[in-house]
Amino acid sequence: MDLILRFALALWLAGLALVLPATAQPASRIAFVNANLVPMDRERVLRGQTVLVENGRIAAIGPRLVIPADARRIDARGLWLSPGLADLHTHVQTRDDLAIYLSYGVTTVLHMGEASNAFAGRTRIAANDGTIPAPHIYTVLAVDGSPRYGHLVVTNAEEARAAVLLARANGYAFIKVYNTLSADAFAALTAAGREFGIPLVGHTVTAMGGLDRQLAAGQLLVAHAEEFIYSYFFAPDFDSGQSVPSDGAIAGAVALVKRHDAFVTADLVTYGIIAQQWGKPAAVRAWLASPETRLLSPRYRLDWPNAGYDRRSGDLMPRAAFLGRLVKAFADAGIPLVSGTDAPTIPGLFIGDSLHRNLALLESAGLTRYQTLATATRNAGAFIARARARAGEPPLGMIAPGARADLLLTRTNPLDDLSTLRQPLGVMTHGVWHDRAALDALIAPIADRYAAR
Ligand SMILES: [Zn+2]
Repeated sequence: MDLILRFALALWLAGLALVLPATAQPASRIAFVNANLVPMDRERVLRGQTVLVENGRIAAIGPRLVIPADARRIDARGLWLSPGLADLHTHVQTRDDLAIYLSYGVTTVLHMGEASNAFAGRTRIAANDGTIPAPHIYTVLAVDGSPRYGHLVVTNAEEARAAVLLARANGYAFIKVYNTLSADAFAALTAAGREFGIPLVGHTVTAMGGLDRQLAAGQLLVAHAEEFIYSYFFAPDFDSGQSVPSDGAIAGAVALVKRHDAFVTADLVTYGIIAQQWGKPAAVRAWLASPETRLLSPRYRLDWPNAGYDRRSGDLMPRAAFLGRLVKAFADAGIPLVSGTDAPTIPGLFIGDSLHRNLALLESAGLTRYQTLATATRNAGAFIARARARAGEPPLGMIAPGARADLLLTRTNPLDDLSTLRQPLGVMTHGVWHDRAALDALIAPIADRYAAR
């Protein structure tokens, strides 16, 4: 090809590349007509409402809205709209995983560590600007004092500040603290996190001597309910084995979290699934033979049988039951619980499916259906709002004017039966409406590819 022609072609392609992201977000308007709403601003339903979505945000809600002529109409008469769901503890790695989440009604995820650079960077950006079908993604940079668990190592205050700067430069929304950090590093992470608007979330840090000090220093979220066993009910440096804390101590844990106004990930499914396979190889075999396995990537089909929980001895079920009583007490005290799963790193935690199982476990633990649904909607939104106050993002987790139009359409009222959320009739995110056929078309090729390998 002639050099000048080639140069012209390159310029034209560069121009096209600049134009593409804009055309991926058309200034479209969509109206859901005559829907029943579960707005999740408080415990109520609103019947016969029209919801107008403009540019990915809810523009207006009302029983007799005038629908703009250019708006696409979706007849939702007799159907139910709820906010999209959030899984605030995931370790997914691929675009396939994100499409699977969407098909289960999940429109927000918090990636809790060990994302590849490519996932934390370009995949997150493509998801968040709506270029690929995916939930909205927030990422955490996991840091620890030693390489023991495979995280970025931070040994002193200077490195801690550098880690926060690195997190900021790479779009991480949070720092996740891990067990072997030093107290100095923890303090420096907190200070730099405050300076740059990157809050701390995470685990027990043994050197801090207990959750009280971590939360007092400003850690915003306890990433697992079971962390209270490791660093509140028993001292962080004490090997409590499999013993179960006394129910009499729960009130103190409630008071601690209330005092620091923190969030807790109510991940009953995580500890529960570990308890189910503890010493029981048949459990993992049964999960791998279940229909959900069609959306489990070959990597996890190989990894799950070797996770090792099935070779352990003892019984974690009493502790799992205790965690149910703990999160019930948290919920009744008004502590903002968020749902998280740890999918898909632990055998049995299928992407998307495990969030619905977590909701079912929360309901079994005695939470009302409204309290349960709040963990994956309004409380998740409150957590992101508090953490990202400076980011100027639209609110999420509720159906309200101005909120992100992350929506789930279901046949029945989820406040009557939460399982209706598992197979949504459609999901909206980033201003794009995916009906059930579109969601199925998204995941069928993934299942086919996995089956072929
Ligand atoms: Zn995790």
